[in-house]
Amino acid sequence: MKIEIIPCLQDNYSYIIIDESNNTACVVDPSEAKPIIDFINKKNIYLKYILNTHHHFDHIGGNRDLKKKYNSIVVGFKNDINRIPEIDILVEDNQIWKADNFEAKIFHIPGHTKGHISFYFFKNKFIFTGDTLFSLGCGRIFEGTYKEMFDSLNRIKQLPKDTKIYCGHEYTLQNSRFCNKYDSNNLNLKKKISEINNKLKNNLPTVPSTIKDELECNIFLRANNLETFSKLRDLKDNF
Ligand code: ZN
Ligand code: FE
Repeated sequence: MKIEIIPCLQDNYSYIIIDESNNTACVVDPSEAKPIIDFINKKNIYLKYILNTHHHFDHIGGNRDLKKKYNSIVVGFKNDINRIPEIDILVEDNQIWKADNFEAKIFHIPGHTKGHISFYFFKNKFIFTGDTLFSLGCGRIFEGTYKEMFDSLNRIKQLPKDTKIYCGHEYTLQNSRFCNKYDSNNLNLKKKISEINNKLKNNLPTVPSTIKDELECNIFLRANNLETFSKLRDLKDNF
């Protein structure tokens, strides 16, 4: 399995997962159709599945056009049946979604939205975290509670340390400033920030991150109780 990172809109990332044994692919959170179509056409692969982490427009914007063009199958959380355009396959918490050679465990991780999920490709050791876990940050709490977001992040934290994290936005630099302000003695963070700066300087994405890096550097994962977490989330909203 190979993952291609496709920048969309201002700062979104869509991801194309390619099974090179048969040239079929999934796209995760297509913000818009055009960059995905451009890539698919160039590579001559078949876009069979569209996976959505949540219903926000910058994660589902390409669903309709891509489905129309490729007859792709749209996979999303069952409770968001009326919010995810063109949804075909309804998945739920802890379910294993398996199709062709793709196999992912679904985590229902509310907080950013009530119906947010992640796709954990446990055999390949990568996870798509949408707008729940970012590199060095976490999503804003729009529909859920602080407790839900805290619990959702704690679930992701348990994954093997070498799991690669593919998140929904390139927010890492801004997130790093916040972490650095409130965790200024963290040497792992300093090292991570210099890696981030190097990547950005060369016009490269800062994703994927890893569970290991995020455990060491992400202040929201380092918060070990709900009160601290909630305080940090409030501070970040006004940062
Ligand atoms: Zn969102
Ligand atoms: Fe988003």
